[in-house]
Amino acid sequence: MEKLLCGVDLGGTKLSVGLVYPDGRIFDKITVYDHAAKREEAIVNYITQLISQVISKNKLSESDLEGIGVGFPGHVRYRDGYTITTSNLKGFKNFPLRDSIRKSFSIPVRLDNDANAQAFCEFKFGAGRGYDDLIFLTISSGIGAGIVLNRKVYRGITGTAGEFGHTIVDPDSDFECTCGNRGCLMGCACGLTLPARFRKKIAQGFKTTLPIGNEFDFSQVNGKLIKQGLDIDDPVSKAIVTECADYIGIGIYNIFQVFNPPIIILGGGLMNLGEFYFSCIKRKFYELARDMIYDPIEIVKSEAEADAGLIGAAALLLE
Ligand SMILES: [Zn+2]
Repeated sequence: MEKLLCGVDLGGTKLSVGLVYPDGRIFDKITVYDHAAKREEAIVNYITQLISQVISKNKLSESDLEGIGVGFPGHVRYRDGYTITTSNLKGFKNFPLRDSIRKSFSIPVRLDNDANAQAFCEFKFGAGRGYDDLIFLTISSGIGAGIVLNRKVYRGITGTAGEFGHTIVDPDSDFECTCGNRGCLMGCACGLTLPARFRKKIAQGFKTTLPIGNEFDFSQVNGKLIKQGLDIDDPVSKAIVTECADYIGIGIYNIFQVFNPPIIILGGGLMNLGEFYFSCIKRKFYELARDMIYDPIEIVKSEAEADAGLIGAAALLLE
């Protein structure tokens, strides 16, 4: 049997550990949701325990695996295998995550930013198959991205390249990003901005047709509610989605100017807002790029499913 790849998707809400075939199909996985409150060492122990569990549960041994790939939701020093910082978990400031996991196993361990892993997953198995270069952007509660150039992830000197979520698109914005700067693409257009945008629209006198009462708790506004709004033609939801999509359009216009890539792939939970959102993003992009486009650029939705993080982490071993 061809060796399996072990993937670890360490997220802020979900921790998935799984075995993946070299063609990207999942062999088996274990997912837990009770890790985020733990400290670094406890999370490392949890991860090693889950890896051992998924191996023994399938009557396999370490020698049946090519290695372990770990996707981390924050900045990573790639060569050294250290995490730099994250807004999704406690701690992990300059933490040797790769070697902390590696000391329990005898197979290689790779650690990278989760969006880099997903970008490589798109290149190997997803919407970017057949392209030598691509840019991947994931838009959900945060905004992450990855760059594939010449069939390899481009990481920069430290490993933090491709953090388009923290490029500044509106320095005068009311929205502060989790990084502390004002007007980051992520600060302006990620899922976390939806409650504040909704509250602001209502305060400005816009009327929503969503069935919310007077006592409505605006912190409950999320992508799902806004999608319900779009489905009933709610003017507030449409206005918010247009504003957020415009920022993403500006973001991918900037990416176009820097990289001139043949394809930009958009993934993440907010893409579930559907065609209205996607078409607003593209409209803004083409409005800005106009006749500067010569070769066509594909702007497409990710083909990856909910396990993209896990498969991407495993795919790091194929790079
Ligand atoms: Zn930022």
